[in-house]
Amino acid sequence: MRVDVDTDKCCGAGMCALTEPLVFDQSREDGTVVLLSAHPPEELWDSVEECVRVCPSQSISLDETA
Ligand code: SF4
Repeated sequence: MRVDVDTDKCCGAGMCALTEPLVFDQSREDGTVVLLSAHPPEELWDSVEECVRVCPSQSISLDETA
């Protein structure tokens, strides 16, 4: 799985960093998403998929084939 984030769309809600802090953080400056791991290990995939669902601005996308 490859994770991608669109920082232009991100509204800094922080739901991703709260849900899966091993993969997502927030910028200290403006709160927008910081991707910590573009290829998270399999045990985190369910949690990353939850982040996609809870993100209010649809800023997180997944490539399940990568
Ligand atoms: S949940 Fe979405 S909008 Fe909120 S910080 Fe993460 S990527 Fe940005």
